Amino acid sequence: MIHTAAIELRTEGDGQIIDITPPVAQVIGESAIRNGIATVFCPSATSGVTTIEYEDGAIRDFQRLFDEIVAPTGEYLHNLRWGDGNGHSHVRAALLGPSLTVPFVEGRLTLGTWQQIVYVDFDNRARHRRLVVQIMGE
Ligand code: ZN
Repeated sequence: MIHTAAIELRTEGDGQIIDITPPVAQVIGESAIRNGIATVFCPSATSGVTTIEYEDGAIRDFQRLFDEIVAPTGEYLHNLRWGDGNGHSHVRAALLGPSLTVPFVEGRLTLGTWQQIVYVDFDNRARHRRLVVQIMGE
């Protein structure tokens, strides 16, 4: 069986990290599926999904990592071509990846105790986002 739903988010951009574990768990709860996999996908070229311990220190460390390896300043060919100034956002999103799959058993995500599913918006402005959550199982 397959169940598909959406998670709507209003984001601030600039590397904002949002814990989306509760809405993903909610989609599983609303489905009739008890065991399977949940895939979260962002149809976006400037954001991504991963897991992290959702606490201030780890979040800021993760944000700083992207400042170090994909600096917002500097010359991006994307910016020269489109003038939207978010060349770094696209590269960061490509690096992180747009989707994540997590198994669930008896209706519960099999995440670790300190592990949350997070959405990271790298764009250089506030956005309205609509993520796809697809549940497959029985
Ligand atoms: Zn762009």
